[in-house]
Amino acid sequence: MSAALPFAVLAEDGAARRGRLETAHGIIETPCFMPVGTAATVKAMRPEDVAATGATIILGNTYHLMLRPTAERIAELGGLHKFMNWPGAILTDSGGFQVMSLAKLRHIDERGVTFRSHLDGSHYSLTPERSIEIQHLLGANITMVLDECTPFPVTPDESLVSMERSMRWAERSRAAFTERPGHGIFGIVQGGVFPVQRLHSAESLVDIGFDGYAIGGLAVGEGQETMFMVIDATVPALPAGAPRYLMGVGKPDDLVGAVQRGIDLFDCVIPTRSGRTAQAFTRRGTVNLRNARHGADPRPLDPECGCPVCRQYSRAYLHHLARAGEILAAMLLTQHNLSYYAELMATMRDAIAHRRLDDFADTFAERQAQGDLLPL
Ligand SMILES: [Zn+2]
Repeated sequence: MSAALPFAVLAEDGAARRGRLETAHGIIETPCFMPVGTAATVKAMRPEDVAATGATIILGNTYHLMLRPTAERIAELGGLHKFMNWPGAILTDSGGFQVMSLAKLRHIDERGVTFRSHLDGSHYSLTPERSIEIQHLLGANITMVLDECTPFPVTPDESLVSMERSMRWAERSRAAFTERPGHGIFGIVQGGVFPVQRLHSAESLVDIGFDGYAIGGLAVGEGQETMFMVIDATVPALPAGAPRYLMGVGKPDDLVGAVQRGIDLFDCVIPTRSGRTAQAFTRRGTVNLRNARHGADPRPLDPECGCPVCRQYSRAYLHHLARAGEILAAMLLTQHNLSYYAELMATMRDAIAHRRLDDFADTFAERQAQGDLLPL
């Protein structure tokens, strides 16, 4: 177990675990979903409202923050927690994924990646050492190693070359990390959809030694069945006493299936991004508030949801706000979606503690499939 970032497994149910991670900015009960706060803000939400949804840890994006307002500026102003008024824990990504998806004129070699900003075209270099330095300046509770984001689909040979480079970068990232209590660094398992490569990658990272282990390079178009296969192939190679983080996942049913397979931490833009496009997640599946059928519906979005939006507003009102393009639509639907995700994780933690996660997963799938066209 990591001394700097203690993690305890409190209960197990099959491969699933109910755990507790201690950071310098609070205790994280796992399994846990981390809302994405890309540019030092969870879009459309004040930090106190994010906390009220039940979130205890959020994700910040190194790529966006290094460009604007810069990690040095945030450090001068007391670090990311203080800068954005978020007292809870923060995990930062390494910047690699966004460089690959957003930046222009990227060039990758053994040293790292050079690119031009998507904002103003200026030149930057991101090496494993620089990524760790930026995350240190931000004050991240959980720092991620810089890895190469392997494209999908990819041949086994290309995947292997990319994964092996990521493992060398993981070692350099680990060496550049400054240990301090309540802060830790996670390695990232790569290897595409190839179980042998995933195993090899996991073993390489365990040899280096990290406070936690992430599974990267999934939810990139491979499909849920393949994703679950890769998780099943990877998890047994990871230390039982360290937290496991599935990066960039996912939809509610992805979370349920991955928790059943032993994942502890998740992040994804889906609940927040969907909230800005009138999509809401409920116990009876996904609802599009723009749909005309909600126009005169006085009922709450999800009558079983405990969030303020479901207690205080009708579907008809949310429909009106979404159709009118009002800012409040994004605010209220983001608030509900994050509350829904937090409640889903809390329900799964409780189910694991009572060893009935599989029963919960069956009921969950049944109700999602029902849809909400039936009388509520
Ligand atoms: Zn709600």
